[in-house]
Amino acid sequence: MADRISPAQRSANMSRIKGRDTRPELHVRHLLHALGYRYVLHMAGLPGTPDIIFSKRRKVIFVHGCFWHQHDGCRNARIPKSNTIFWEAKLSRNVERDQQNLEKLSELGWGVLIIWECEIDKHAHTRDKITRFLGPPRLGS
Ligand SMILES: [Zn+2]
Repeated sequence: MADRISPAQRSANMSRIKGRDTRPELHVRHLLHALGYRYVLHMAGLPGTPDIIFSKRRKVIFVHGCFWHQHDGCRNARIPKSNTIFWEAKLSRNVERDQQNLEKLSELGWGVLIIWECEIDKHAHTRDKITRFLGPPRLGS
């Protein structure tokens, strides 16, 4: 697994702002399924349109791209050296919006877990994170 994102991958990522069924999200969904969790993918009216929803547990998971959502301290979140001012403004708006959505979700009583794109290949880590957040599977949702 390459540890650096190629220019081609980066431009692909940039052109796909909030794509559905992205590879990292599919990966997390497969993992959830393998662990025995049941989820839904869409629920109207939830702030930030979470990627994966556990309605009975009242919990949601976001699978965040490190660049677009500015994973703190992550090498994949570095601001491009050209058009720096544009990117800084755009990305800080994303971060601000994410923060507002998290606050709204928590006010509505939803638990939120963020899985970063760069974590997904660390399978044991991601699995632990999910099971700690959701508790044991087979509670009906
Ligand atoms: Zn990251």
